[in-house]
Amino acid sequence: AKADGRGTYRFFETGMDARAQARRLLEMDLRAALGRNEFEVHYQPIRDVASDRVVAFEALSRWNHPQRGLISPVAFIPLAEETGLIVQLGEQVLRNACADAATWPEEIGVAVNLSPVQFKNPNLVASVTEALAASGLAAERLELEITESVLLQNSEATLAILHELRAQGVRISLDDFGTGYSSLSYLRSFPFDKIKIDRSFVSELSTREDSMAIVRAVTGLGRSLGIATTAEGVENDAQLELLRREGCTQAQGYLFSAPRPASEVVMMLAKPRLR
Ligand code: C2E
Ligand code: CA
Ligand code: CA
Ligand code: CA
Repeated sequence: AKADGRGTYRFFETGMDARAQARRLLEMDLRAALGRNEFEVHYQPIRDVASDRVVAFEALSRWNHPQRGLISPVAFIPLAEETGLIVQLGEQVLRNACADAATWPEEIGVAVNLSPVQFKNPNLVASVTEALAASGLAAERLELEITESVLLQNSEATLAILHELRAQGVRISLDDFGTGYSSLSYLRSFPFDKIKIDRSFVSELSTREDSMAIVRAVTGLGRSLGIATTAEGVENDAQLELLRREGCTQAQGYLFSAPRPASEVVMMLAKPRLR
């Protein structure tokens, strides 16, 4: 149990079930972790399929918990979103990712995930501008990844923000493509720079005809629209070969590398492949 601001212990309050208690503890832990800088950014290479070169790294957050070790974002992003802490966390990720990327070769970009909740923060555009200015990173090297759910909410305001970001030179990718309700209509609502094909389609490429058909359709869509397509979760050569054949422009996945700490970026750039 922990004390709240006034020193009263609320943890054992009646009516609070075990799940709510666990959640409250995690929330307090999360809040403290932000203050203690316990979040790290790991980087996963994104490779150009034709040239086999690394073109960018995706920034993926990890919570380096003093007792529990590295915690997956799957375990804390949802709660960070519910509590609004994602705004602060997202700003930290953005600042760290831009600062790290500024030390990489100029042709290498960085992709940062943005939560729908961050779009409700009036300072989003300013925090992107600040992260770029503080790091000296050229805006063209920053990609922001958003999911369809971002466009579901208050889409006029969201579109205005996306256009403001784009006006600065930042690129915008549509993440997890194909998993939502009406992916195609979102492609018409904003001129995205890239479509990321969700891992669920890639993992079944060689075993399910329908996944193959969907990947083929999405890469074709990217070609018609003149934008890049990135396949996520590429784990084996058979998948890479099928993606290459379909003209998918970029690939990312354990076949090349899992997300690794910033200190290993140089090594990931030097080695064609590592697992
Ligand atoms: P995502 O944006 O779709 O990121 C891709 C996820 O797939 C990452 O999981 C990555 O480690 C994993 N992955 C990459 N290649 C492979 C592969 O070959 N096989 C398999 N099985 N998995 C692969 P991770 O790092 O656990 O992140 C999970 C999700 O958490 C992300 O999905 C993203 O939605 C969210 N997330 C992570 N960091 C941030 C962040 O800084 N901000 C926000 N808003 N969300 C984040
Ligand atoms: Ca992503
Ligand atoms: Ca994704
Ligand atoms: Ca995802």
